[in-house]
Amino acid sequence: MLFPSPGPEPKTDLFIAGQWRPGVSGKRFAVYNPATEAVIAHVADAAIADGASALDAAEDASVRWAATAPRRRAEILRCAFDLMMEQAEPLARMIVEENGKALADARSEIAYAAEFFRWYSEEAVRVFGDIGLAPGGRNSIVVDHQPVGIALLITPWNFPAAMATRKIAPALAAGCTCILKPAEATPLTALAIAAILQEAGVPAGAVNVVTTSSSAAVVGAMLKDPRLRKLSFTGSTAVGRTLLRQAADQVIDCSMELGGNAPFIVFEDADIDAAVADAMIAKMRNGGEACTAANRFYVQRGVADEFTGKLTERMAALQVGNGLDDGVELGPLIDRRACERIDALVREAVEGGARLLTGGRIVPGKGHFFEPTVLCDVPAGARLLHEEIFGPVAPVVAFDDEDEVVAKANDTEYGLVAYVHTRDIGKGLRVARRIETGMVGLNRGLVSDPAAPFGGCKQSGIGREGGQHGIMAFLEPRYVAVTL
Ligand code: ADP
Repeated sequence: MLFPSPGPEPKTDLFIAGQWRPGVSGKRFAVYNPATEAVIAHVADAAIADGASALDAAEDASVRWAATAPRRRAEILRCAFDLMMEQAEPLARMIVEENGKALADARSEIAYAAEFFRWYSEEAVRVFGDIGLAPGGRNSIVVDHQPVGIALLITPWNFPAAMATRKIAPALAAGCTCILKPAEATPLTALAIAAILQEAGVPAGAVNVVTTSSSAAVVGAMLKDPRLRKLSFTGSTAVGRTLLRQAADQVIDCSMELGGNAPFIVFEDADIDAAVADAMIAKMRNGGEACTAANRFYVQRGVADEFTGKLTERMAALQVGNGLDDGVELGPLIDRRACERIDALVREAVEGGARLLTGGRIVPGKGHFFEPTVLCDVPAGARLLHEEIFGPVAPVVAFDDEDEVVAKANDTEYGLVAYVHTRDIGKGLRVARRIETGMVGLNRGLVSDPAAPFGGCKQSGIGREGGQHGIMAFLEPRYVAVTL
């Protein structure tokens, strides 16, 4: 049976102007469970005209929503938080069905996702401006913030709930209406969130959801429409670059959360057991399918064997299977292509001289499972040290001193997050400041927090989501000069 948990039937139509619609073409696309490869739903497949309708709806709602009192916006968002927590279990199971992650990961995601509604319900009423005297003394400089305008929100499949709420909540809090375009692999969670927002009192057109198997065409057309003023994208660096180019034509304000290649650095003076525990979180949260996932482990030579041995033991003991089954800690990858890509990365590393300590293979049979894998003695040129692995594979490299490891950590076009383990807090802070990333986990394996600015530098992105910064991405300063 599909969706065996109690809860409403999943929504499978487009959500436009407060209505559930099949889309102009009447076509639908299949959604698969990556653990069983079974089709679990057929979702409305939006065409370019549906994207235009969503823009019409967002435009019709925009003046009223921007003029809605911040307190009212806050109350709606707070209600969405409560509703999401009430429905946490069926939502978590829905995520497992369409994404594959283990149920514990899906439950954490729902709590994390809902928290964006609560956080931005609190931020909605705390948008302040400035007033000052101009240096010449004859006029006043008055600055407040206005909504940036209609926002297109494009999300990936790895956190189908949290990536949606991380964008929708600040957009609504700021007074922007929006259109969410979720990933083709995981549209059901996005539609379920739309239903929650509708129930919470979001007016028709303020949030629209367009599911499509033709993202490039539908999004490309929307980016040509001058009514669209904001693009907030989370996904691969390659697609991010394409969208930045397209957004240039209408000079659309862009926030970009792109790929990562996070180093996880363990110094000799670290608490090794704590470092291994955090390594498991940084590597295996979401089965390794996270842009924040530790992608390369640099361990100081004196503790490399101890760390690698303990990490290998923990990885080898992970229970792999259908995320809904009891005790399962690692679900499947999203699709067959992901399995094959990771398999190639591991094989190339081994051919280049890396030693395989555990795992290393695609699990035969139904479902897109890959064994939890640890490699050591990985050669510096190996592709998996330079590309985002996005799966349960941990390559370990030994290092000798701080300058060497900082240079290695920075030897990448990415700059999202780094992890550092040391008992010397001064050294930890120094290294954190030398590494070119937007975020650092110092003696922590998890940095994501709705109250903190999430984002990267270099080719990992532009802008920040979460915290006080997140709402600013949907606001523009408005300066009024007043003669005194
Ligand atoms: P991932 O590797 O995580 O799937 P992608 O960058 O491929 O990341 O996808 C992230 C989001 O961007 C998804 O919603 C996907 O449908 C969308 N997307 C992919 N290609 C395009 C494109 N050319 N134009 C607009 N959106 C796209």
